[in-house]
Amino acid sequence: MQVDEFRHGVRAWLDDHERDVTPSADAAVSVAAQLDHQRRLQRMLFDDGWMRWGWAQQVGGLGGSPTLRAVLGEELTARAAVHTTSWSMHEVLGPAVAQFGAPDLVAEIFPRLLRGDEFWCQGFSEPEAGSDLGSLRTTAELNGDVWVVNGEKLWTSFAHHATRCVVLARTGRPGSRGISAFLVDMNTPGVAARPLRTMARVEEFCSTSFVDVEVPAHRLLGDVDGGWKVAQHILSCERGAIFWQRGAWLGYHLGLLLDRADETGSAAALGQAFQLLWAFRATSKATQERIATGHLPGPEASVDKIMIGAAEQAVFDTARELLCGAIESGDTPAAQSWRREWAYARAATIYGGTSEIQRDIVATHLLELPRSA
Ligand SMILES: Cc1cc2nc3c(=O)[nH]c(=O)nc-3n(C[C@H](O)[C@H](O)[C@H](O)COP(=O)(O)OP(=O)(O)OC[C@H]3O[C@@H](n4cnc5c(N)ncnc54)[C@H](O)[C@@H]3O)c2cc1C
Repeated sequence: MQVDEFRHGVRAWLDDHERDVTPSADAAVSVAAQLDHQRRLQRMLFDDGWMRWGWAQQVGGLGGSPTLRAVLGEELTARAAVHTTSWSMHEVLGPAVAQFGAPDLVAEIFPRLLRGDEFWCQGFSEPEAGSDLGSLRTTAELNGDVWVVNGEKLWTSFAHHATRCVVLARTGRPGSRGISAFLVDMNTPGVAARPLRTMARVEEFCSTSFVDVEVPAHRLLGDVDGGWKVAQHILSCERGAIFWQRGAWLGYHLGLLLDRADETGSAAALGQAFQLLWAFRATSKATQERIATGHLPGPEASVDKIMIGAAEQAVFDTARELLCGAIESGDTPAAQSWRREWAYARAATIYGGTSEIQRDIVATHLLELPRSA
């Protein structure tokens, strides 16, 4: 399937299914409604094949370039048919599980992920380990043919709605070389996901505890003590492919603001947001082209991450300026939705690795500057 043909086909499908594609007003402010809508739409897209292009046949896909997945995400988010935060999860976690998971397991569960019958979350960060992920304290000890996991994860997005979680746990020595990755079922006894409410009053991520959680040996991803490689794979997907669709999501919101530009006369702020967004999209396009040739995004994707953080905050700060108080105190569904997006933009310089950490990666890996003492 060629990219242009695919894009045409997706657009026509979305036009034909407009009623199913358009989320309810609830989905903009309630995570449960957002995921319900995504599940329904994803099932339809899977059954009609669109969701399967760009994934290998061994995992239930129809083959073709990963660019096809980026195009699907772009077309969906450019019309706000899905919310990027949840739509991106299969794109962040799926490639690493497909690569490092036991082939029988992957063949069994992956089609369910693509069809929306399952939703996966990412259990990396902990109360004392975010930027310094190598210091994580969650442990996994082998007992016969099961690993017993104990510890606490923090900021686990959508864990309270997830079927499975990619968990990083310490199986060996201190530091990044003593960490393993596991695919843990969220309904295993001992797993508890407690939702945390964001400042936009949305329950989007959780504090997730693991108490004597028994994980079968075949749920190990990659090698024992080889979890860092899995984590790096996932983080590079998080910093790479998914930004393309997030750019389209920002473009959709900027478009809504441009429609109001004449009423408000905030041309300078809009121009600045537009410039940052399009500079980001140019950089992200180059990343998508590298991914299309089979390469994982490397340290250069840190530049994309820094740029999207700036663009995202510029778009929603402009919204705050233009919407005159709606974000602070409006109570219409539209105002609540803008509030959620503005608040989420604060996190754009934090999630997936903070802007400070990305600048450090740029300095050491791209510019090859010496590390400061
Ligand atoms: C919306 C959102 C969703 C998230 N979803 C998930 C998820 O699904 N799964 C998951 O595992 N995690 C998730 N996270 C967590 C995210 O990965 C961490 O918040 C992030 O890595 C930063 O870690 P921290 O919060 O512990 O901050 P810290 O690491 O404590 O950092 C605090 C401050 O210190 C700065 N800092 C730290 N170290 C350095 C350094 N060496 N040099 C310069 N400055 C430094 C940081 O830049 C930051 O400003 C999410 C976070 C957000 C905001």
